[in-house]
Amino acid sequence: MDTKTEKILNGLAELYPDAQPALKFKSPYELLVAVILSAQCTDERVNKVTEELYKKYNTPETMSTLTQNELEKYIFSCGFYRNKAAHILSASRDIIEKFGGEVPASLEELRTLAGVGRKTANVVYAVAFGGDAIAVDTHVFRVSNRLGIAEGKTPDKVEDGLCAALPQSEWSKAHHYLIYHGRRVCHSQRPACEECTLKELCKYYNEK
Ligand code: SF4
Repeated sequence: MDTKTEKILNGLAELYPDAQPALKFKSPYELLVAVILSAQCTDERVNKVTEELYKKYNTPETMSTLTQNELEKYIFSCGFYRNKAAHILSASRDIIEKFGGEVPASLEELRTLAGVGRKTANVVYAVAFGGDAIAVDTHVFRVSNRLGIAEGKTPDKVEDGLCAALPQSEWSKAHHYLIYHGRRVCHSQRPACEECTLKELCKYYNEK
């Protein structure tokens, strides 16, 4: 890790020592469904929806008893509910048919699940199974580019850059730090650069 990246990582660790996922879950399957629902939606909203949904449907088997329409009614308020319902149902079927009803614990197998994209697989692998992975969501993408620790025009490119720039043992923590910084300081529209303790190290700030 180069000195500047190390300073940024240490700065983020100081700011967010308790960084952890905001989604509520009690099993890898619950996390998987919550992550699918969280695309373009706040974690607070997802937690409200899953609190109700998981009272009866918190396993691939019970979820698969729902029709697409029935599931849509539960998750409507998360947005993109048609696609999300289809993805949840297809992933649930795959988990039952290919993995005996258990969410697979390897990144390669998670990525084979229907309806599960790379970002979702990475989050589940890192958070539910303690694996080393960096999921690049909108916050991670923006903050990494601005700070200059990993630049790229696509999430995959930024993920590759972060994996190359950071030691593997830091990947999962860095993912949470960058999300926190994006939510609290480095906002999409108006980043609070003057209050940001990382501004001396930030490419975007220093080029402005
Ligand atoms: S200085 Fe500004 S752009 Fe850079 S990380 Fe901080 S808030 Fe984001």
